[in-house]
Amino acid sequence: MPLIQGLSVAPGLSQGPVHVVRARLDSAPIWSLRAAEVESEIGRLDHAVAAVSDVLGRRRADVAKAVGERDAGILGVHQMILQDPVARAELDTAIRDDRINAEAAVERLIKRLEETMGRLDGDSVRGYAADVTEPWRAVVSALMKSDQESIAQAEGKVVLAAAELTPEAVTFLPRERVLAVVTEAGGRFSHGAVLARSFGIPCVVGIPNLLARLEQNMPILVDGDRGGIVLRPDEATLEEFDKRRAIRSARDRVLEAHAPLPAIMPGDRHIQVTVNLESVRDVDTFDVGHCDGTGLLRTEFLYLERTVFPSEEEQFRLYRRIVDSMKGRPVTIRTLDIGGDKQLPYFRTPKESNPALGWRGIRVTLEWQDLLRVQLRALIRASAHGAVRLLLPMITSLDEVLAVKKVFDEVRAQLEEQGYEVASEIPVGIMIEVPSTLWILDDLLEVVDFVSVGTNDLVQYLLAVDRDNVFVASLYDPQHPAVVRALKSIADAAKRAGKSASVCGEIAGDEAVAVMLAGMGYDALSVTPTSLSFLKFALLSTSAAEAESIAEAVLEARSSAEIRAVLDGVRSTLRAAIRAKDAS
Ligand code: PEP
Ligand code: MG
Repeated sequence: MPLIQGLSVAPGLSQGPVHVVRARLDSAPIWSLRAAEVESEIGRLDHAVAAVSDVLGRRRADVAKAVGERDAGILGVHQMILQDPVARAELDTAIRDDRINAEAAVERLIKRLEETMGRLDGDSVRGYAADVTEPWRAVVSALMKSDQESIAQAEGKVVLAAAELTPEAVTFLPRERVLAVVTEAGGRFSHGAVLARSFGIPCVVGIPNLLARLEQNMPILVDGDRGGIVLRPDEATLEEFDKRRAIRSARDRVLEAHAPLPAIMPGDRHIQVTVNLESVRDVDTFDVGHCDGTGLLRTEFLYLERTVFPSEEEQFRLYRRIVDSMKGRPVTIRTLDIGGDKQLPYFRTPKESNPALGWRGIRVTLEWQDLLRVQLRALIRASAHGAVRLLLPMITSLDEVLAVKKVFDEVRAQLEEQGYEVASEIPVGIMIEVPSTLWILDDLLEVVDFVSVGTNDLVQYLLAVDRDNVFVASLYDPQHPAVVRALKSIADAAKRAGKSASVCGEIAGDEAVAVMLAGMGYDALSVTPTSLSFLKFALLSTSAAEAESIAEAVLEARSSAEIRAVLDGVRSTLRAAIRAKDAS
């Protein structure tokens, strides 16, 4: 059967029943209903309306008792709104005739009510729109809660489908229950994509009209290698799929044999290969003996599944667990990088029309220094138990670095005064992900101990292409001549300053790019644990001199196509080497 083509975000092959989920905390999922499901969906709606009405009734009685019947009146009005026959008929039609799920039907009603009210004159009338829609919003929440509860209680694995590839969609269920993720929109370098890859979950985005074609539990096959999906796959398709899975396993066996070895390239260049971690559970998914430490701990994701902001003690315990499990290897802890598409349920940053250029990363924590101080206290305390390093995200200027270092020194002195044991050396590094840093890098390198290049953001800011936007996904090009020349200039600046330079953006996990980066002079690469074995294989099979000439060829190129041709050559050489090993 033909693939419905999208864009591959995380490799791998998976198949199973689909479950449509919401992409954002504040938006409802939409899916199609089979004729046989219509009555039970109407029942689900009835149930949610009754539950909200009950809550309103209880609240009405409480308010009446506390402050009087007059103030309680609005809650009674809300109960009546839920019984409005016109609204109800509209919902029934959407479910019966348009065959959409109850959440989507109610959202459609809310939109219609807002539009109708918005067209009327007068602020008070428009304000009334909020009141009319409020009880219906509560119904949407009740429906989503019941859906989440029922899928959470169910057993078995599912393919998650959502409108957008957000971190919320990827973490909707515990990862062991997720076979694959497929979405209508989302970029290959979005944070949702980063999570999918780090969980080792195949993921495909950019499937047009996906949700309108899906029904809950429909069998679906996700081909993360070719970037497509098959709905209701037939026997022949499944058989071919199984054959490809077997070939993949054989390749993985060859690569696995290289994972425990240090990445010393022939010609005696040792590249530190570290891992990017997003959660404490990550450390149980791979053998820490296969890496040289943690090059990036994205702390914002550690707290993603929580309902309140973690205390100093909780953060300390989390960092300590990671430090302990790394058994003496360095752990690079990045301060909170929230904002943009990374939202925490208990810490919503404002809605911005251009969030990538907005209040994000160090901009948030420098302004809300109490958050920064709590995190730094936890991190500095963890340094007593292992080799902790501090990494700062979204740095734009020298002043920002000096400001954080000042807070860092104060927090450290305070902890020492309070009698805490702390390491004598905690290296401080910065992410190079905003282009301004390229022109002030020599100054920055005077005050930091290392730099780590965040290519996911650097590419989006250098090329003015939103990393989350599927419409410009083809323009998001890490193989652009400007990107590779920027990467080279960073490696050169670090070398001049005698400081370490690593790349922790997703491109470092691409085996050919990793070879190119080693050739440019990077001494460390930080990747998702699932990329470790292929990366080690690539570095062990390419000499330092070969890597340098690959880097030179790439740097001479004048177009992305030329760069891609050089790197594709590296990829085919590596694949041929794997086949030769498999055959031997
Ligand atoms: C990056 O920007 O490359 C990076 C590693 O950080 P994040 O993906 O978390 O923004
Ligand atoms: Mg970044």
